Amino acid sequence: MIDLRSDTVTRPTEAMRAAMAAAEVGDDVYGEDPTVQALEERVAGLFGHEAALFTPTGSLANVLAVAAVVAPGQEVLCEARAHIARAELGAHGAVSGLTMRTWSHPRGQVDLAALADLFAPDLGPYFVPTAALSVENTHNFAGGAVLPLADLQALRAFADARSVAVHLDGARIWNAHVATATPLASYGAVADVLAVCLSKGLGAPAGSLLLGSREVVTEARVRRKRLGAGMRQVGILAAAGLHALDHHVERLADDHAHARLLAEAVGADPAGVDTNIVAFDVDDAPGFVARAGEAGVLVGAVGARTIRLVTHLDVTRADAERAARTLASL
Ligand SMILES: *Cc1c(COP(=O)(O)O)cnc(C)c1O
Repeated sequence: MIDLRSDTVTRPTEAMRAAMAAAEVGDDVYGEDPTVQALEERVAGLFGHEAALFTPTGSLANVLAVAAVVAPGQEVLCEARAHIARAELGAHGAVSGLTMRTWSHPRGQVDLAALADLFAPDLGPYFVPTAALSVENTHNFAGGAVLPLADLQALRAFADARSVAVHLDGARIWNAHVATATPLASYGAVADVLAVCLSKGLGAPAGSLLLGSREVVTEARVRRKRLGAGMRQVGILAAAGLHALDHHVERLADDHAHARLLAEAVGADPAGVDTNIVAFDVDDAPGFVARAGEAGVLVGAVGARTIRLVTHLDVTRADAERAARTLASL
């Protein structure tokens, strides 16, 4: 089976498992796991932020990051198909007591005109004030679209002019970095708080980080524990992340090449393939998923007529070529 449903399906490599097995560990709730500390310091440094916090999932990193800059009863503005709005099961409302309003863009991009319309200044105790703007790079449900750095810098200026924060959901920021050669620190510079994942294209079995100021991270550490996600000898997972940073970042370019190859084979618009995700339309998506599965290729339906393919560490060139032939014939 060639599994193109998601880049979360990767299994740790032998070398990653060896790094995990050899990890020095301690009780991270006591602040005594040296491998977790090494990972937090390294990732904070990559993005030019003061501090980082290891979390079991990207969803939790997002919940902690947004709550750090939006108080209960305030709002965050985001694109309509943002992961924080659609795929975190309402956690930001249910757990953090904040609200969201959205703008829509077919490629998940920043739209400053829409933001200017949506933005709500603090007008006293009658209206919900906007406390933060959130963007996602790459944008998952917009097909792995990259948000250009210039647009993010314009968003930063828009936020500064109104004294509100910027949250960046960087679950796949590594893909944007490799696809555009934009330094990670440039992405770090446009956001007050970021969430990044190790368990997508980087191939770690679990783990994400929230990045921000020392103050934000100190408070987020308390909230993380309150939510039951203080972890103990979790250097075993942090070691997988450190290994992934050493060995699995530059190779994301291969995933992007494989995505372009698949896009060509299925007749998808290559202009819509920025990174490792390909979306294309068929007459009957569930039927197509079933037939592709029978032919040895697992794909996902993300709408009644839309199929999504995601390339990753466990899909070789030969796999991509075979999947391309199979999907083209279907
Ligand atoms: C996967 C993902 C996350 C976090 O997902 P978890 O499954 O909770 O780790 C957050 N944002 C985006 C855009 C994602 O694709």
